[in-house]
Amino acid sequence: MLDGVRAVVLDADGVLMFRGAPVAGAAEAVADLRRRGIAYRVVTNYSSAHRTSLAAAFGRATGLEVDGMEIITAASAAATYTAQHHPGLPLLVLAAPDARREWQGQEVITPAEAEARRAPVAAVVIGDAGDDLSFANLDIAFRQLRGGAAFVAMHRNAWWMTPKGFTLDAGAVVAGLEFALGRKAVICGKPSPVVFRQALSELRSQLAGGPRPAGQGEPRGSGGARLRAADVVMVGDDPRADIAAARRVGLRGVLVLTGKTTASDARAAGLPPGRIAADLREVVRALR
Ligand SMILES: [Mg+2]
Repeated sequence: MLDGVRAVVLDADGVLMFRGAPVAGAAEAVADLRRRGIAYRVVTNYSSAHRTSLAAAFGRATGLEVDGMEIITAASAAATYTAQHHPGLPLLVLAAPDARREWQGQEVITPAEAEARRAPVAAVVIGDAGDDLSFANLDIAFRQLRGGAAFVAMHRNAWWMTPKGFTLDAGAVVAGLEFALGRKAVICGKPSPVVFRQALSELRSQLAGGPRPAGQGEPRGSGGARLRAADVVMVGDDPRADIAAARRVGLRGVLVLTGKTTASDARAAGLPPGRIAADLREVVRALR
């Protein structure tokens, strides 16, 4: 099943961490990937913080030194998307202040500045902005979008669990704007192909001798044939948002049972036994 795999994409929640605590053995498995020169990226829809903040938090929890470059969040994927599709143009980004740092070097303006302009911004990005997803700001975003701005969203997650319990997520707001506009947003986080293509592109560049995160040494097999999607395995705990979504882009997928999916759920989702593993450790051990 894992023969010929040259690089790995890891989900964070349910693979490395679960309910705020590190998954047993996950940090050792990541250390093993590094030791063996297997390039990887962590892909998560968590998008309330900048990647460097997430890396620091994960580092504190596990004792591993983590470089922000190893992580792709729905926020960083959206920032990469606007840099590629709307370079040098004004953007309205509704995101938490720490996550907004992902747009450093791009022209992000405030809702008031957007409202004062005569032409619409190039793109509106809707993310996990908390109280900044106010009626006033969404109304401004709506007018920008009606006026022709591109509609970009970090993800379409409807709700998530926080210490308060079930908590409304930004996807509910995205769906509301889609309803009002009669058109769909470009989603950048999982299960969109956008984030998997970005991960593949970064891994490809790393294997070709391009930039690599501080913790990862010279990748094994670097300088060889161009990395293909089928040379990469996605390890996640969600049969649809991780495994099926990665497979649509051509990656392989292995579901681990350290998160929200039980073995019987995984079988019910149609995953064959060869694509289910107990945990990340088992997957990494099986890589040759
Ligand atoms: Mg997960």
